[in-house]
Amino acid sequence: MIAEGQQPSPKYIGHLIGAQMAVGADDSATFETWDPHDGSLLATVARGSTLNGERAIEAARQAFDQGPWPRMTPKERHRVLHTLADLVDNQRDALAMLETKDSGKAINQTVHADIPRVAQNLRFFADYAALVSDEAYPDGSLLSYTVHPPAGVVAAISPWNAPLMLASWKIAPALAFGNTVVLKPAPQTPLTANWFGQLALEAGLPPGVLNIVHGFGSDEVGARLTTDPRVDRITFTGSSTTGAQVMRAAAGNLIPVSAELGGKSANIVFNDANLDVAIPESIRGIFAGNGQVCLSGSRLFVERGIYAEFLDRFTAEAKKLTVGDPKDHSTYLGPLIEQEHLDKVHRYVELAQNGGGTVVTGGSQLVNGEYANGFYYPPTIITGMDNSSQISQEEIFGPVEIVIPFDSEDEVLAMANDSQYGLAGILFTTNLDRAHRMAARWKAGTIWVNCFFERDLRLPFGGERTSGVGREGGRYSRDFFTEPRAVTLRI
Ligand code: NAD
Repeated sequence: MIAEGQQPSPKYIGHLIGAQMAVGADDSATFETWDPHDGSLLATVARGSTLNGERAIEAARQAFDQGPWPRMTPKERHRVLHTLADLVDNQRDALAMLETKDSGKAINQTVHADIPRVAQNLRFFADYAALVSDEAYPDGSLLSYTVHPPAGVVAAISPWNAPLMLASWKIAPALAFGNTVVLKPAPQTPLTANWFGQLALEAGLPPGVLNIVHGFGSDEVGARLTTDPRVDRITFTGSSTTGAQVMRAAAGNLIPVSAELGGKSANIVFNDANLDVAIPESIRGIFAGNGQVCLSGSRLFVERGIYAEFLDRFTAEAKKLTVGDPKDHSTYLGPLIEQEHLDKVHRYVELAQNGGGTVVTGGSQLVNGEYANGFYYPPTIITGMDNSSQISQEEIFGPVEIVIPFDSEDEVLAMANDSQYGLAGILFTTNLDRAHRMAARWKAGTIWVNCFFERDLRLPFGGERTSGVGREGGRYSRDFFTEPRAVTLRI
């Protein structure tokens, strides 16, 4: 394993097309990626044009139409993907450090959660594809059965908040089921993707099976990936607004899209909850990942009987969280991704203040001392806003919690469901009847009861309403990344 301090620090990041790390190829346009901790330059990156997008799609198309990967057995692909997972594990610390520098996410999280999950995604889908069964229906003289050939070329477009983990959530199932891929990472966090691509080639992935192009969305390489008829599937994770653009573009060629989008999830704490569980989980639920997590429980509803006690204890815990250099193992919150995003987060806080809300803690950018050159925002808790306010309805995507009291199960469920989003719901109660009752009526893709962020990769993952279209995970990923086919024969 590469020790910290010895990790590769690329100064230039090109596209990976076929087996080649290509420069801009057709032009020399670049952009820069910065360290959100101190604003220093991390790398110059090739800024993909539409032509780069076309070349990457062509490489993926050729690898699909003529290469060995789609024709290998799931067991053969399993061997390559497990080797890749082992290589990721071997480079865990160095990959995590690079991810932390690029994204500002605390090293404890990238080392212990995000990068291990990359390897887990690869192993899970390799195993799943090798073990999953098909259907067969003997019916008198007829025998019917299903087969699941790969869909073809997959365009994977990912966001910056968990860069390699979310990219691997797309790449792993796409590859395990025999597809070829063009990945476009977010321009804010391009650093780990190419290294992953190199490891994939080292693991034995044939050239052209995984291609990586860098750059932006609208009118550039990202948009190109969504309008090319040689693409068979688009898997997109990002904001709801961009998701709608991607779906509109894909509709021109009737390309199926799986869209994992924004969220404004309700976290509900009842009087009977075990607060020793509910408080730390609720802290994690909004402040882990610097609050830049789609699943965040960013609307916190607390039953009136425990509201005062909960708010006191919750605030005390939030104040204890260490904000600082994300490379430091004692840090809980690192910097936000960029100043522009921080300004957006802060505008929501101002909106609450102007609308009669109370900022219980936090509420302004940290600018002194070690924070001077970074994009630091402290854990922020706001009360006095109701569920219909803009700050309760729109995704802030930062370390800002809105705490709202409630009096009854029906009232709180109505508020939880009164949202354009429907990604997740979090519930703390010791009344299991209530837990089941609410889970059945809650309009969200994932419900967690007395826990948070726990993931069984066999379960469907996705959102309702503007939080997404489609589900991925286990058999749901197989349905999306393959073309299920019915075969009937007379015997
Ligand atoms: P974004 O929508 O701005 O960008 C996402 C990706 O899309 C980037 O790679 C971007 O370059 C690309 N893109 C932008 N315009 C495009 C276009 N017209 N065509 C093709 N590609 C285009 O999102 P972001 O700011 O990077 O990420 C934050 C958002 O992602 C939040 O809303 C968050 O909730 C959401 N998110 C959702 C999940 C989930 O699983 N549901 C997970 C993580 C993040």
